[in-house]
Amino acid sequence: MNQLTHDPVADGKMRRNKVDLPLNVNIVEVGPRDGLQNTAENLETDKKITLIKSLVAAGVKEIEATSFVHPKWIPNLADAEEVMRAVSDLPVTMFALIPNEVGYNRAKEAGVDGVTLVMSVTDGHNLKNLNRDTRASIKETIHLLHKALRDQIQVRVSLSVAFGCPFQGNVHLDEVVQIIDQLVENGATRMGLCDTIGVANPRQVKEWMKVITTMHPDVLFELHFHNTYGRGLANVFAGLESGIHYFDASIGGLGGCPYAPNASGNVATEDVLNMMSEMGVETNIDETKMLEITQTLFQHLEIDVDSQVYKVKKESNL
Ligand code: ZN
Repeated sequence: MNQLTHDPVADGKMRRNKVDLPLNVNIVEVGPRDGLQNTAENLETDKKITLIKSLVAAGVKEIEATSFVHPKWIPNLADAEEVMRAVSDLPVTMFALIPNEVGYNRAKEAGVDGVTLVMSVTDGHNLKNLNRDTRASIKETIHLLHKALRDQIQVRVSLSVAFGCPFQGNVHLDEVVQIIDQLVENGATRMGLCDTIGVANPRQVKEWMKVITTMHPDVLFELHFHNTYGRGLANVFAGLESGIHYFDASIGGLGGCPYAPNASGNVATEDVLNMMSEMGVETNIDETKMLEITQTLFQHLEIDVDSQVYKVKKESNL
């Protein structure tokens, strides 16, 4: 064999010619919740409402608009009612994050279309975040899930620290599967796995999602990645390769977790949109409009945009 043309990768067993990917994906914009809950400068309520309306105009079909958590814990989202009332009639699905029954009742009253019921996979994170262990949270989540079904409110159940925990460290697939099993048995049909601190890797995502989707082929699974170690987009791609077609993303890469030290922002919506369109995967969201929304939002917040695509396009005036 000619040494110069020898390609050890091409000779390997893993060589493939074609990658099967979903034709369409749904991007759930979580910036108004996951992003704005953490900013030092609290965006004024009318600007939050304008932001959400602009996202709808750009083609976003599902938005996590706010969180009905007690304002004592997340003061930035103390205006949850006002925001939700102003946007709930828009022709898209407005979700709100719900930590408990009080939050659920507030969200319902404010006209929410869908609730994100959140719990952590580990006791360590759940105790910090929700002040109870996972066993108690599973019970509460099932209770709220049934309530929402009766109220005809859409539900997505989000599992925090699903790929790794700042308190426990590694999370095992079995722990995640056990919780999913219990929730699905009790009626959950849409479930998100959240890499709250950004420690997942693409191999883990692909292997885990293969197992999980094979066990529960009728459940809609979605993925939520933070970019702490720069693996956010790679993890999105690994999810895509496993057939996942719902992804959370946050405008300008905003985000973090008040109970997860050093967690950085979500994978930036602009970067996900750009990667999808370059790969021929449809999002039905207008990239140019998104970049304009980002520019306006970050001027108000007075912080740097954490999106590669935004930086490149703005610097070259594209
Ligand atoms: Zn998050």
